[in-house]
Amino acid sequence: MNEIFLMKLGEIVLKGSNKRQFENKLRQNVRRRMKAFGNFDVYIMQSTVYVQPMDEEADVEGAWDACKSIFGVVSLCRCRPCEKNLDAIYNAIEEYLGDDLDCAKSFKVESKRSDKAFPMTSIAISQEIGGRLAEAHPHVAVDVHHPDYTVYVEVRDLAAYVHGPAEPGAGGLPTGVGGRAMCLLSGGIDSPVAAWMMAKRGMEIECVHFFSYPYTSQLAKDKVIELARLVTRYSGRMTLNVVSFTQIQEAIRDNCPEEFFTLIMRRFMMEISMRIGKQHGCGALITGENLGQVASQTLEAMAVTGAVVDIPVFMPLVGFDKEDIVTIARKIGTLETSILPYEDCCTVFTPKHPKTKPTLGQVINAERKLDREALIQEALANVEKITVKFHDEPAI
Ligand code: ATP
Ligand code: MG
Repeated sequence: MNEIFLMKLGEIVLKGSNKRQFENKLRQNVRRRMKAFGNFDVYIMQSTVYVQPMDEEADVEGAWDACKSIFGVVSLCRCRPCEKNLDAIYNAIEEYLGDDLDCAKSFKVESKRSDKAFPMTSIAISQEIGGRLAEAHPHVAVDVHHPDYTVYVEVRDLAAYVHGPAEPGAGGLPTGVGGRAMCLLSGGIDSPVAAWMMAKRGMEIECVHFFSYPYTSQLAKDKVIELARLVTRYSGRMTLNVVSFTQIQEAIRDNCPEEFFTLIMRRFMMEISMRIGKQHGCGALITGENLGQVASQTLEAMAVTGAVVDIPVFMPLVGFDKEDIVTIARKIGTLETSILPYEDCCTVFTPKHPKTKPTLGQVINAERKLDREALIQEALANVEKITVKFHDEPAI
C-alpha cells in the first residue's frame, strides 16, 4: 500500500504508567471504527497510531474522515511510506507531494528522526532533501521561517514517511478510559453537546430519552434517535434507552400542585436514568443543564432534582453561554437536527408559574400522593433499547 495515516496521541502521552492501557483502548477504538471501511491494519508505535489500508477495496476517504472524529488523537496526517534512504525519500516526496509543492509560493522541509540508527541528523536530512527539491522546483522559493508549504519527513522504526501539513484531530482522551455514563438526551441543543463533551474526556456514553406518546410524536422520537446517531460519530456505538413517560406525567398532572410539575418530572427522570444506568455499569449521569437557562435550572431546582441520585451528575455545560453551546453543536453537526421543531416532553404540562426557588421539603410534600416506586418500576419494565451506530441509515 502506498498510503498510510499517522495519528499522534494527545494527552495520553502524559499518562505515565497508565499509558499502555490508554494506548490499548485507543487501538481498539480505531480498529472498531475502521471496520466499516474495509481491511485496515492498526498498530501503535512511538506514540503514534498507524492506520494502514490493506487492499485496494479499502475505503480510504471514508476511513480518513472517520479518523478525524476519534478521541485521543491531537493531529493526523496522510503519508507515503518509503525506504529509509535519501533517494527513496526524495522520490516519494516528488510523487506524493510534488503537485502541492508546485502550487506553493515558498516551502521548507522539516525532518524528524526517531530511528536514531539512521546515519544523518534531522537537520542534515532537511538540508539535503530541501536542496534537491529547490533544484527541481526553481519557481518555489525556500523559506525556512514563514513557508507557504511544509514538507515533512519522518524517519521511524519501520520506514520513512513523507507528508504535508497535519490536520487537527478530535483531541480528548480515548473513549472508554474515563468510565461509563448515562446521558439524559432530550431533543434539544444542549444534551447532545453535553454527551459529546464527556465522550471527549474518555467516557463511554449510553443515553436515555423520556418519551410521552401521544403528547409527543413519533417524529420527536426519531429526532432523538438521529441525535444519538450523530453523537456516535465521536463516541462509537451506543444504546439509547427510550422510557415511556406518559403515565408518570399524567400521574403528576392529576396529583401534584402545578408549580412543581417540572421539578417532580425531572426528579423521576434522574432517578429512572440512574437505575437504568446502574444496570448497565454507568457510574455517572450526564445532563445538558445550564445555570439560569430555564426555571428548572436554578441552583435550588438543581439541588432538588439532584437529591434523588447517589452517583455523580456531570453537567459539562453548566457555565456556558448559549452562544458557545450553539457553536459546538454546529461544529459537531448536531445543531441542524436539534432545531427541528418537534416538541419535547418537557413542554407538555408546563406550569404557568414554575417554582424557581423550591426546597426539598416542599417538593417531597408535593409528591406525597404519588406512588413513586410503583411508577418507576412500571417505567423500568417497559424500556425500549435501541442500538445506534453512525453508519446506520439516518432516522430522519
Ligand atoms: P436541552 O437543549 O438538552 O433539551 P434544555 O435547555 O431544553 O436542554 P431542559 O429541558 O430543562 O433544558 O432539560 C435539561 C436537561 O434534562 C437536558 O439537557 C437533558 O439532559 C435532560 N432532559 C430534558 N428532557 C429530556 C427528555 N425528554 N429525555 C431525556 N432527558 C431529558
Ligand atoms: Mg429541552
